[in-house]
Amino acid sequence: MTYTVINEAANTPGGQKFTNLGIPYTKEILPKIHMYVWNNILQQTNPADRKPIDTVEIFIKDVDGPYEALTDVNKINVSAVALNKYHGDLKWEFTSLMFHEMTHVFQWTCVNAIKCNYNLIEGIADYTILKANYYPSFFAKPETGNKYDQGYDVTARFLEYCDTLNPSFPAKLNKMMRYAYADSYFKNLTGKPVQQLWKEYKAKYGQPI
Ligand SMILES: [Zn+2]
Repeated sequence: MTYTVINEAANTPGGQKFTNLGIPYTKEILPKIHMYVWNNILQQTNPADRKPIDTVEIFIKDVDGPYEALTDVNKINVSAVALNKYHGDLKWEFTSLMFHEMTHVFQWTCVNAIKCNYNLIEGIADYTILKANYYPSFFAKPETGNKYDQGYDVTARFLEYCDTLNPSFPAKLNKMMRYAYADSYFKNLTGKPVQQLWKEYKAKYGQPI
């Protein structure tokens, strides 16, 4: 596996912040995060289960989008403007971001399917930062949210609950999402329809549906 890190925004405030954080630091954490995602989250010990990717490229770009980063297959494009807006510990924030984006690089997103469940995909990526203990203080608490695939932290917490019903649930779900997605996957893995799971999840914490 090769990791490439290119700062295309070195002359911007956010790009300068990244220069200070360091390409060496980034190259140091990427293999560790990569192994964490493979072994602990997706649990793809069999190479046949993995995406055929041998290079991960990080680009720091002078763009201000709605997102901190956008991952396209094996390319993680990070917004230098977003980096400049971080007011906490940049090293921590950037590392957390890499846990999320590296999950996108290696998780399955319904190859060749017309549609997938992208909120669920975001939930799996946030499940990684939850389990890696790189989640922010404003991360959703277990009882919050309106639906199972609301996305991001809300869905990550629901996946954490599903993992108590069927260990390695997110890994198993990811494997099933290789070519397609269907709500029935939840029933296949737990014996219960996803809407019932969501109701029981909310009831567990005494929340009205
Ligand atoms: Zn994402």
